[in-house]
Amino acid sequence: MTDTLTSPTVAPLAQERRLVTAIPGPRSVELQERRRRVVSDGVSSALPVFVQRAHGAILVDVDGNQFIDLGAGIGVTTIGHTDDAVVAAAQAQLADVVHTLFTITPYEEYVRVAELLAEHTPGDFAKKTVLVNSGAEAVENGVKIARKFTGRPGIAVLEHAYHGRTNLTMAMNFKAMPYALGFGPFAGDVYRAPNSYPLHDGLSGGEAAERTIAYLEKTVGASDLACLVVEPIQGEGGFVVPADGYLPALQEWCTANGIVFIADEIQSGMARTGAYFASSHFGLVPDLVLSAKGIAGGLPLAGVTGRAEIMDAAQPGGLGGTFGGNPVACAAAVAVFERIEQDELLAEARRIEAGLRAALEALRERFPVIAEVRGIGAMIAIELLDPETHRPRADLVTRIAAEAAQRGVLVLTAGTYGNVLRFLPSLALGDELLADAMGVLAESFEAAGA
Ligand SMILES: *Cc1c(COP(=O)(O)O)cnc(C)c1O
Repeated sequence: MTDTLTSPTVAPLAQERRLVTAIPGPRSVELQERRRRVVSDGVSSALPVFVQRAHGAILVDVDGNQFIDLGAGIGVTTIGHTDDAVVAAAQAQLADVVHTLFTITPYEEYVRVAELLAEHTPGDFAKKTVLVNSGAEAVENGVKIARKFTGRPGIAVLEHAYHGRTNLTMAMNFKAMPYALGFGPFAGDVYRAPNSYPLHDGLSGGEAAERTIAYLEKTVGASDLACLVVEPIQGEGGFVVPADGYLPALQEWCTANGIVFIADEIQSGMARTGAYFASSHFGLVPDLVLSAKGIAGGLPLAGVTGRAEIMDAAQPGGLGGTFGGNPVACAAAVAVFERIEQDELLAEARRIEAGLRAALEALRERFPVIAEVRGIGAMIAIELLDPETHRPRADLVTRIAAEAAQRGVLVLTAGTYGNVLRFLPSLALGDELLADAMGVLAESFEAAGA
């Protein structure tokens, strides 16, 4: 990896951590004050530092501090901040055409993204796509399509799942706080089944699948279910990797019962795990795949891709939306796919996995509060439990993230109990930066009293 990545429009940004003020610095403090007056308190930020510039794996704040970004905007800038190819494609598209509304007058970029999704999602059959603006909107559309195709109402989801912040998706999430509390009434016909969480349930994949299926058969009945929506690796839930055989058994049950199997790959997809979609690691061939976050290098774009006969169940005019599949976002997405292919970025995800795993396993030797290192590719997490009581240590996770931020490393938390640190850096994170960030993490564990 090179130390310096160049951007076509601005001076190169050295890929290094650099602190020049206290965190947050004076300009961030000023902006925080302005923000408090005009931005809803319902919108929170993990770190009160305002970003001015970003490139590769580095964020620069308004005071000139440079942070190593291990969150990538929650897995959005997967190929790196302001990636040169993405910037160039978006700039060119901005000058050509910014908006027509695909449902009025179509354009090639939308079709190209649909072709690329058909090519790179698992399964060798005719596939079709609808493009929308956000992950939650992709979930909503996946459910809409599955209901129309099956003529059934029920939606099955799993414990610890996260699917978004719209009315339907609030009902599909596991955690009420902060996502749903007080925002009801919620959509009905959502059934939440136990998942596979090896660290906590100790079940084999087969046993966990039996439990999930028995639960759904008892509480709903397979014939009332339109779809089962699963994240192959749960994102907000804390990068929970299900036991071997769990997901294939669920898919088999869905297929046998005419239930549409939907993989929510919004966080796990688009090269993050070293495969285009994490479903591949589990041998899954979902009926529908939902993508968003990393698909367009930071521009808002999301999609539902799947079996043509299911996707075509929606009546003409039944799918769409004003901004869905915006030309600039589509041009950026095409550039993302090209970068992954041409620059072998799937291998970069595996390189990052090796680096993170080695560092985190070494940390686990030193700090027994780390109960587990888990994940695939550039999607790795550690869960913190009290070694004696096995109680979740959210307090410690919060302190460690704060200590890391003070030292110029942005690390995100996750988990139903808030006791998970998750690492989902961009694939532009070089080995030196990774090592520096892991050094800072170790210091932060000590400073937090782990
Ligand atoms: C982020 C996320 C969503 C929601 O996406 P938005 O773009 O925030 O609406 C849905 N599912 C998963 C797995 C996610 O990580």
